[in-house]
Amino acid sequence: MKGTIFEIREFCLQDGPGVRTTVFFKGCPLRCSWCHNPEGLSRDIETMRGQPCGRVVEASELAGELHKGDDFFQRFGGGITFSGGEPFAQIDFLLELASLLKPLHLVAETSGFVSPADYKRGAAAVDILYQDLKHWDADAFSTHCKGDLSLVMDNLTWLKQSNVPHVIRIPLIPGVNDLPGYEESFVSLLNGDKALQRVELLPYHVTASVKYELMNKPYKPTFDPSAEIRKPDLDIFKQHNIQAVLA
Ligand code: SF4
Repeated sequence: MKGTIFEIREFCLQDGPGVRTTVFFKGCPLRCSWCHNPEGLSRDIETMRGQPCGRVVEASELAGELHKGDDFFQRFGGGITFSGGEPFAQIDFLLELASLLKPLHLVAETSGFVSPADYKRGAAAVDILYQDLKHWDADAFSTHCKGDLSLVMDNLTWLKQSNVPHVIRIPLIPGVNDLPGYEESFVSLLNGDKALQRVELLPYHVTASVKYELMNKPYKPTFDPSAEIRKPDLDIFKQHNIQAVLA
């Protein structure tokens, strides 16, 4: 089966345990105002700096390329991470690729904005799931990400009751979700989360706009990118027995 990707990045240290290779899937159903991967939004092959951006590839061909790093992954305890874009938006391609990559250690990073059936299939195919949590409020999620939060919440509810090891990633966006008491709002979503390993809070970087220029796409954030981010009080997570780190 063929899929569309836009980058294979080696030596990644932030996308799971050890030293990893991250495969970026092309195409995402959301449009987060802070997205720093504009080349991952459309499934189409586009151009960046005048060069083609994106590649259609057979799962077997891609698996062969990735397996060249097997010795390296074994030595440094790493593996392969599926990112994007939204990797679960190409679920059949991902499942075939995952089956060809096993027993390598696999991670998927998802927004959770996919059908519950695809979400469960994707979660079952990897060793750790990195689940984004962008907002607790449906109106804010709709305004800033152009999606229906209830779909993400349905998948999160399932994840919390599952035995799928997972990390929650929260992008901290100034004026969007760093509102007074926001730590409690996120913590309340994670009550009773059985297989949660930790929460990672990732502050927005102003460099997000750079790639839009390279693709001749307008960057029109729904917030003030230069505003200071309200620093998280990690003790609030700790009080609820949740390990939280500022990435
Ligand atoms: S879910 Fe991720 S890839 Fe999709 S628009 Fe949002 S930040 Fe970008």
